[in-house]
Amino acid sequence: MWYFLNFLLGIILGSFLNVIIYRSVEGIKIYDPPRSFCPICKHQLKWYDNVPLLSYLLLRGKCRYCGSKIPFRYFFVECIVGVLFLIHSILFNYTEAILLNIIVFAIIPAIFIDFSIMMIPDFSWILIWTVSIIDLLLRYELWYLKTLSLITIMIIFLVIKKIYKEGLGEGDIYLIAPFSFLLIPPLSIYLLLFSSISALIYAIIKKNKIIPFGPFISISGYFLYFFMLKYY
Ligand SMILES: [Zn+2]
Repeated sequence: MWYFLNFLLGIILGSFLNVIIYRSVEGIKIYDPPRSFCPICKHQLKWYDNVPLLSYLLLRGKCRYCGSKIPFRYFFVECIVGVLFLIHSILFNYTEAILLNIIVFAIIPAIFIDFSIMMIPDFSWILIWTVSIIDLLLRYELWYLKTLSLITIMIIFLVIKKIYKEGLGEGDIYLIAPFSFLLIPPLSIYLLLFSSISALIYAIIKKNKIIPFGPFISISGYFLYFFMLKYY
């Protein structure tokens, strides 16, 4: 029952994140208009068009009113948040699961919005800082390692930023700072390594010099924190 409730909470929050992602990318206010609508025909959606996972499946990925395709992203985000919340509730204790859930809630919109419009929403880095502070209170004896980690990563990051002026956006530093304080060495060094390497591979595949760095910091940071909670 506890696991199922976590999954349910995950798909509901995933559904809400879809709204945040869509409205941020389109530049629409999050709460105005209050009801969801179809982006193509603008028809207001009924509650039964908005049931996480089920509506997408029952409507076979099409709008009930105009038949246009609903992006697969809607289903994917609800599914991934639900599954991750479920995994956290199985593998971790209550507090750890909540901390990991908050990270997922913060990074999913950061990943999708940064890929679309190269911007990271403020609430994402604020939430990761919140988790970092709570984690510090839970393992206060590690404060010096966390501080060392934050200072080291910031220095390295600022040096890289000076060398590749156009390569790194302003938003990246907002994301990497709370993650460096959340993780302890050597995990914070891995954060820098994993995110740079994956971003580089992505840049080579895409043949694009300017790529969003936020998604790679987010994904690396999440997995490393997952690992840290499990094994440290
Ligand atoms: Zn429609």
